[in-house]
Amino acid sequence: MADLKLTDVEKTYAGKINVLNNINLEIKTGELIVFVGPSGCGKSTLLRMIAGLEKVTGGTLEIDGQRMNDVPPAQRGIAMVFQSYALYPHMTVRDNMAFALKIAGKSKDEINAAVTRAANILQLGDYLDRLPKALSGGQRQRVAIGRAIVRDPKVYLFDEPLSNLDAALRVATRIEIAQLKEAMPNSTMIYVTHDQVEAMTLASRIVVLANKGIAQVGTPLDLYERPENEFVAQFIGSPAMNLLPGEVIETGAQTTVRLDGEGIAVSDVPTTPGDMGLKVNVGVRPEDLVAADGDAYLYDGKVNITEALGEVTLLYFEAERGRDPVVAKLPGIHQDKRGGLVRLNAAPGKVHLFAGGKSLLYRAQGGA
Ligand code: ADP
Ligand code: MG
Repeated sequence: MADLKLTDVEKTYAGKINVLNNINLEIKTGELIVFVGPSGCGKSTLLRMIAGLEKVTGGTLEIDGQRMNDVPPAQRGIAMVFQSYALYPHMTVRDNMAFALKIAGKSKDEINAAVTRAANILQLGDYLDRLPKALSGGQRQRVAIGRAIVRDPKVYLFDEPLSNLDAALRVATRIEIAQLKEAMPNSTMIYVTHDQVEAMTLASRIVVLANKGIAQVGTPLDLYERPENEFVAQFIGSPAMNLLPGEVIETGAQTTVRLDGEGIAVSDVPTTPGDMGLKVNVGVRPEDLVAADGDAYLYDGKVNITEALGEVTLLYFEAERGRDPVVAKLPGIHQDKRGGLVRLNAAPGKVHLFAGGKSLLYRAQGGA
């Protein structure tokens, strides 16, 4: 068992620098929770409070129902893996992994068993007698994870463990972490990253942190398909969702919005008669913009920049409507679109609506 519960957790550094408030979160045994959010939003702070490396200055932290606020880090059953591997350079892989157990006075047999188990899980068996300098970055990070595994913690904490690796190694190591989770289904993991793909692929649930609190908690696809607010809508997904201001002119199961300038957008997001005249932002993800086939369209403009990524092409253009540059993501290669006029609509069912920053779809489905 390794359930975590955070109730009204708060962090104020040095009695005056308040960085987190009202953190309420329940994490169940076996989950892999990913914290994402802008740089400086408090991801590491929250992780370090759970580890016991930072004092919780308000609220309660419980593990398996027991209050942990004042329990020393070593007694929490938690292991943390950092971005910098911090391996001992003069020790072999085996000794690096065994070190904490030796310090704790474990027997030789126990240590051997724990190191062998970790080496098997991480496929490090062939490297046990090497020094860290004879390993690749990805292998070093695996040794750092191995040092956590040998202690058999209830909870693993990872703070951007892959950020020092190059792109190809990140992908390979990400897949290894997913396999590691499979191999240890009863351990609870909390993983901080600023990498969207890591968050989307690894997480059982993602916690989006912003403005000193939690902006939304949900499965990766929940956050993608039903963001609770504009912040999450624009933070999850890359490039960010396009937003276009408008006013509700027809309500019901479908909502009609008059756009900035002329034109209308129709959304499957339901509204009530009281929403008539509501100022909204119409949101469409770049990948949900398609060529307009009739007279109606959301955006038209001249393409300034194309970025052909191979499987998709990003088109950036200044649209006649809206204030920000618009981004569309089209499947395939379209370098020919540069300098040309495009006229785009949202694919059916893909129009989000936000009022006062909050999602109307989320509201319609019973959210706050
Ligand atoms: P993240 O990991 O999301 O980038 P951090 O948790 O490192 O963010 O930092 C959150 C905020 O807390 C930042 O504004 C940072 O400057 C501040 N902070 C972090 N550590 C300290 C500290 N020891 N004393 C004062 N402020 C700190
Ligand atoms: Mg950090």
